[in-house]
Amino acid sequence: MTGITPEVRALMRPSAAALEPYDPAFSPVEVILSANENNYGIPPEVAPALAKAVTDAAWNRYPVPLGGELRNQLAAWHGVAPERVVVGNGGDELLFNFFLAFGGAGHALVSCPPTFSVYGLYASMVETPVVEVPREKDFAPNVDALVEAARTATLVVVTSPNNPTGDLFPRDGVRRLCEACPGIVLVDEAYIEFADPGSTVEDMLGEYQSLAVLHTFSKAFALAGARVGYVLASPAVVAALAAVRQPYSVSVLDQAAALAAVTHRDAFQPAVQAIRQDRGRLSSMLGGLVPLGVRVWPSQANFLCVRVPHAHEVWCHLRDEHSILVRDFSSTPGLEDCLRITVGKPEENDLAVAALTSILKGE
Ligand SMILES: *Cc1c(COP(=O)(O)O)cnc(C)c1O
Repeated sequence: MTGITPEVRALMRPSAAALEPYDPAFSPVEVILSANENNYGIPPEVAPALAKAVTDAAWNRYPVPLGGELRNQLAAWHGVAPERVVVGNGGDELLFNFFLAFGGAGHALVSCPPTFSVYGLYASMVETPVVEVPREKDFAPNVDALVEAARTATLVVVTSPNNPTGDLFPRDGVRRLCEACPGIVLVDEAYIEFADPGSTVEDMLGEYQSLAVLHTFSKAFALAGARVGYVLASPAVVAALAAVRQPYSVSVLDQAAALAAVTHRDAFQPAVQAIRQDRGRLSSMLGGLVPLGVRVWPSQANFLCVRVPHAHEVWCHLRDEHSILVRDFSSTPGLEDCLRITVGKPEENDLAVAALTSILKGE
């Protein structure tokens, strides 16, 4: 890709000029385990309904901005009023909208790295000061320090399960943050469908006006290509997000696809359960590589965070010699020598372990 030339950079807003185009580090390979997508895809029994919904959608009409029927069905599913739901062009748009609405100079974000890099990116785009409360040994969040930092924050973001470490944020920690923070407490639950039942903090929405919960169709619901996410929050926070969003950001087609997924949501369960089961299997296979210097952390998501000696080189070998793409986090502070491996289908996971074993043995 052509870079930003100095001449063009000189024209940019200072906070934008500091950026480079986002690089998902994708390359064409046979086994894709790099972006936490659902490698099972749309369940075959849902595909025709989804295709019909998209075909029958009113392509010539602008979409209903807040997603009329999709919003109603999301509300019914989660047992909340539609006023508590806002849909977005992927969870990413909604995250950006949080910063547009609640960020900016003088509005501090508290975050808990290592975590999803997008929070820091969006914070910097709208000149939001960031207070980072780093995770401790083995990635446990320092809840006491977060609560202290939250006392002066406009927005606290915690990720549960966290990307890329895979751990849940403690539920009582969310309560303490909601009680301490004068601003918004956003819990990013992009991977919650892969976690043990009862892990969501959605049930606390009635108690805390400042709590917001983010969900997406990109992971468990296999619609990363469609770009639909949603937030559950108080009606006032939803209204604030609605005020800053691009009115037609979620297309008629994407709304139709997401609605079909909601209507057929039970059909996605077998793949989610298979991924949960194979997460355990992959984790114990990787655990068998401890003598080769591998370390694997427990995960409640559809990926595993692993530490391997010379991770960047291993990542290159996986891609170039085995046609397997995982995500390289080895240059992220706190994640030295770490790779993130998405749990794919059983045969894909087997290939990844076999390749890793042969690379680490120097074969
Ligand atoms: C994938 C992901 C999202 C949302 O992704 P979208 O595809 O934009 O819906 C949000 N948060 C985290 C932590 C993620 O990993």
